[in-house]
Amino acid sequence: MLSLLLMTLVAVPSADSVDRGISEALARERASVLTAVRYDLAFTVPADRQQPVLGRLVLHATMAGPHRVVIDFSAPRDRIRSVRVGEAQITPIYSEDHLIIPADATRAGENAIAIEFTAGDEALNRNDDFLYTLFVPARAHLTFPCFDQPDIKARYTLSLDVPADWETVANAASVRHDADATPAGRVLSDPSSRQHVQFAETKPLPTYLFGFVAGKFSIERATRNGRELRMFHRETDAAKVARNREALFDLHASSLQWLEDYTAIPYPFDKLDFILIPSFQFGGMEHAGAILYNAAGQMLDESATQNQLLNRASTIAHETSHMWFGDLVTMRWFNDVWMKEVFANFMAAKIVNPSFPQVNHELRFLLSNYPDAYSVDRTAGANPIRQPLSNLNDAGQLYGPIIYEKAPIVMRQLEMIVGAQRFRDGLREYLKTYAFRNATWLDLIRILDARTSENLSAWSRAWVEERGRPEFTTAVRLTKDDRIQRLTITMNDPLRRGLVWPQRMRVTLGYAGAQKDLSVYANAATTTVREAAGMPTPLFVLPNGGGLGYGLFVLDEGSAGYLLANMQGVPDPLTRGAAWVTLWDNVLEGRIAAGTFIDAAVRALPAETDEQNTQRVLGYLSRAYWRLLPGDQRMARAPAIEAALRAGIARAGTQSLKSAWFSAFRDDALTPEGVSWLERVWRRDEMIPGLTFAETDEIVMAMELAVREVSGWQQILQTQLDRTQNPDRKARFAFVMPALSADPQVRGEAFARFRQLENRRREPWVLESMAYLNHPLREADSERFIRPSLELLREIQRTGDIFFPGRWMDSTLWGHRSPGAAATVQDFLAKELQYPERLRWTILGASDELFRTATRSAR
Ligand SMILES: [Zn+2]
Repeated sequence: MLSLLLMTLVAVPSADSVDRGISEALARERASVLTAVRYDLAFTVPADRQQPVLGRLVLHATMAGPHRVVIDFSAPRDRIRSVRVGEAQITPIYSEDHLIIPADATRAGENAIAIEFTAGDEALNRNDDFLYTLFVPARAHLTFPCFDQPDIKARYTLSLDVPADWETVANAASVRHDADATPAGRVLSDPSSRQHVQFAETKPLPTYLFGFVAGKFSIERATRNGRELRMFHRETDAAKVARNREALFDLHASSLQWLEDYTAIPYPFDKLDFILIPSFQFGGMEHAGAILYNAAGQMLDESATQNQLLNRASTIAHETSHMWFGDLVTMRWFNDVWMKEVFANFMAAKIVNPSFPQVNHELRFLLSNYPDAYSVDRTAGANPIRQPLSNLNDAGQLYGPIIYEKAPIVMRQLEMIVGAQRFRDGLREYLKTYAFRNATWLDLIRILDARTSENLSAWSRAWVEERGRPEFTTAVRLTKDDRIQRLTITMNDPLRRGLVWPQRMRVTLGYAGAQKDLSVYANAATTTVREAAGMPTPLFVLPNGGGLGYGLFVLDEGSAGYLLANMQGVPDPLTRGAAWVTLWDNVLEGRIAAGTFIDAAVRALPAETDEQNTQRVLGYLSRAYWRLLPGDQRMARAPAIEAALRAGIARAGTQSLKSAWFSAFRDDALTPEGVSWLERVWRRDEMIPGLTFAETDEIVMAMELAVREVSGWQQILQTQLDRTQNPDRKARFAFVMPALSADPQVRGEAFARFRQLENRRREPWVLESMAYLNHPLREADSERFIRPSLELLREIQRTGDIFFPGRWMDSTLWGHRSPGAAATVQDFLAKELQYPERLRWTILGASDELFRTATRSAR
């Protein structure tokens, strides 16, 4: 008995030996044991979405010898109906997220494991007339038993049994349709009539790229370059479809062609369909051969702005790029998820930008990446681009500005270092070498390293594997006749690791009404800008004036003073954008007073010619005003700021520019005159020529009036609620209303709701409420929410979507600037010694500006 028991203990792993989720250890075990994995999958989808989806799977896997097989499937005991290995019925071991086939049930060679199950609905997105799967990053196992890790690529043979009047689409083409066994075949009017659709076997795919859609859709077909493309949609406005269809097919076709040329690899999958989903969670999702899009972003109205057209083209180019970057070659583990995203963005920009010559794309790149990347990288909560990930349960926490905004900056630097041609050749080799397989960042670096004299491993360590950013100072030595003798740039690692971030820069030397940009490669602690020698003494030196350099650029007093006073005299909009980003950094560093910055912004804005810069500077103005100025100074400056913003509204030549100025006014107005003008606009007693307001605009105006406690604020809120037509917006407004109350007790209750999960389901509603509860005008009273909000963060991370924890902390802290608020956060962190590191980073990132202002006001 004893020996038998021992044997049992050895041979049969206990359920606890497998962690929840998909651990890296489990993933490695499976990747080393299993080969030639195939899924034969059949789903029966009832018309009624309350009825369960039933599934049948035959999972084929080849092994060198008997070995336990851990299959991912959530809630397996409730949902498994039977398990057979070969011909033998077996009872697997069940644990929370897995079912385990014991080694003694397996054999060398091919094993066929047949499982009948009930599919979980969590990742099926079931609607009345349609459903679609969305399995990224590791949600396939909520639906069917599988190896839910990116490096077990498998071939899928799918069949679907669905209502007869539904359409179906999946990764591969359908090869057979069987109507139901009713004598008349497919009887569309009979709701019980069914059809059976069989799809061809797919190319090797990871679980997160496998997917299907079924339901009531219309299909548009077009042929481009000899390839048939299909579009599935649910749009009922025929004119809208007609207006958009050619452009949608053309954009896909041109992206495909560009990518085939660039990669020298033909489109890797057998067909391409795209499906427009109403209220889709993301802009798009790159399921191989069957891309899903958010319908609203693709089917545009006649009034579509330049920006919407650019975004649509970019989204299509992004998802199409994924067919090579991500789908053909996939990251081995989700710690490298940033790679597929950065390549998709990088290719999308190359594909799309030339078709939009009116847009300053370099400025767009600068303003859409650098400020957001800095918002994390300057803080104590900075994280590296590439982070260890021990379990796919935590994969959601990798997403953030460092992956989405810093990584593209890093990739552009890499291309400049390697050279565009060699970079492309390196990518070709990478795609060819790892086609239909997996690769890591280090695999790519090895290929590129062989093509350059640069030491890319050292380069990658600073940029990709480590957190934070460099700090730069400049020094100019002059000759006796006032020319530059020597201009040096010094790079410093503020975290004292001695790191160097090698980077290409375009250093701007400013002269009256002119500028000179000098290229330099800063790849050491000190770099001399050789070309500068002999040039006249500049009015300012801006090392990142060409929009390339990444880091904190500490401005010398002369340069800072000149830029603050004379921004309108700097000719290049890109340099002005870079200068504003740098000045803002210097404000946060305490080197430039917030009031001085505000004065400079108000002076420069009327002369700004690029709308992108105007928007950015208005944003900084608002931030400086609310987050950095003490209340009394804010009030003192309000009349001048409001006058400048009103003038901006009147002067702006386009609706979108007018709207940018108006939004700034609406958010910043504080004087009685300013607020009462806003109220008249909201009451529709006052019109602004050239600017029409939609329901959403009036809602925000009403909320801004209420938080200012204008007399009759209750009536304003009530009127707005009654005015609001759209049911979704009405429900949201009703939800946020208590957070706007002038009664502190009502606001306390508005906050207390969020302790219950069911009150946190609609995350945007919660975040809007939190932002008003913690509005700077309510700063003193709302300090009481900080501690409980911190205490809720872990639960919020566990139960919420990927971006919720960071946004929750941001909306909690944005209105606070007092030493007491800072102490509450510091005290919480000091006591929570076992706190998860990534969440600690989230808190540190969100409290960065609070810590800075609190320290300064305590001095
Ligand atoms: Zn993507």
